[in-house]
Amino acid sequence: MKLADDPEVEEFRARFSAFLDARMPPQAQARERSRSSADVPGWARRWQRTLFDEGWLLPGQPPEYGGRNATLPQQLAHLEELAHRRIYHSFNPQGLGIIAASLLTFGTKEQKRRWAVPILRAEITAALGMSEPEAGSDLASLRTRAVLDGDTFTVNGQKIWTSGAHHADVLLTFVRTDPEAPRHKGISALLIPTVTDGVVRRPFGSIAAEDDHDFNEVFLTDVRVPRENLVGPLGEGWRVANGSLGHERTLLWLSYAERLQDLVRDAADIGSGQEWYATLLMDLTALRLLGYRQLGPDRNPAEISVLKLLGSEAVQTASLRALEAHGADALPHPARTGPYHHMNNEDFISSWFERYARSFAGTIAGGTSEIQRNIIAERLLGLPR
Ligand SMILES: Cc1cc2nc3c(=O)[nH]c(=O)nc-3n(C[C@H](O)[C@H](O)[C@H](O)COP(=O)(O)OP(=O)(O)OC[C@H]3O[C@@H](n4cnc5c(N)ncnc54)[C@H](O)[C@@H]3O)c2cc1C
Repeated sequence: MKLADDPEVEEFRARFSAFLDARMPPQAQARERSRSSADVPGWARRWQRTLFDEGWLLPGQPPEYGGRNATLPQQLAHLEELAHRRIYHSFNPQGLGIIAASLLTFGTKEQKRRWAVPILRAEITAALGMSEPEAGSDLASLRTRAVLDGDTFTVNGQKIWTSGAHHADVLLTFVRTDPEAPRHKGISALLIPTVTDGVVRRPFGSIAAEDDHDFNEVFLTDVRVPRENLVGPLGEGWRVANGSLGHERTLLWLSYAERLQDLVRDAADIGSGQEWYATLLMDLTALRLLGYRQLGPDRNPAEISVLKLLGSEAVQTASLRALEAHGADALPHPARTGPYHHMNNEDFISSWFERYARSFAGTIAGGTSEIQRNIIAERLLGLPR
């Protein structure tokens, strides 16, 4: 597949670029900052709505879902253009990239209308309730229980690490509906509005800062959920979960490439001439070349694990080297280590310590590095379990 000099892709990129020049909100209109991954300030909601209306939110989707039926290379150009201008795609990344995307694949027509479209238009925000205290990497061991009686589920259990739950309107929650079935078979996916009686969200700080409230514990006690909120068939939640995390994975590596590109620029003063800085440049090039290969036909989906592992670990290593190189100066919080851009997320330009601390989001969330290594070993290298 030839990526460069494709007139159709370049024309697409130029049209998006012209749209951004014409429509992007100026800094004066975008002062309010987001406080969590489901807290979308008013200006960012209006901006996401504009992207949706004009078919630039998820270009690969049809117009009714904020797109224009773009090809994969065109979608790549779209994300590259956003990254190049340091525009954060959505301040509700789980809502846009995972939950709305899952509803578009698995939801009923009514669920798409009632939940997916409002999430895409940033009228409501969503959080992802998968992990539990005893079920993270091994998600299939989740224990939150939902009992169906007539047309209503009653849900009891606890979720954890639920990013942005305290600001979200709805949770896509994975629950056990059949405790007798084999582990993967008895799971279902439910949409639970956060205002429902019995839902308690308790935000807590992160390694980045005590006052960095994105994580939540979510307690569910006798929460009543109508059957119409079941996403996908009863007992087919595992398929929804895999689909949820699989969404947009083909281009997920681009977000790591973006972080690496930021590091190349932001650490240039201290890294130039250093071996770790040369490694950073090589890792970025390797990631890009491997990522572009994903656009070709007949790729093994397990290759995406190579990209996630390489990208997330390269970000972590380079952030650590920059942190070490700056010594005690790297610690102050909050601090700025990159240029401010009002359309970006400040987390990405915070102190060197914070940038390093936040790099663990890459190596833990969405499948830890160890899990990626297991996938690569078994599915790409053919090693025994
Ligand atoms: C920034 C961030 C945001 C998150 N947001 C959300 C969210 O919005 N919603 C949500 O549901 N969850 C979220 N999570 C949780 C995330 O999905 C889990 O942390 C992740 O799945 C790992 O699970 P765990 O923390 O329970 O660790 P565990 O699964 O207990 O793993 C502990 C350690 O054991 C290792 N390990 C486990 N199993 C194996 C194995 N089979 N082979 C080798 N090593 C193994 C792991 O790699 C890890 O080092 C988020 C996490 C982070 C860091």
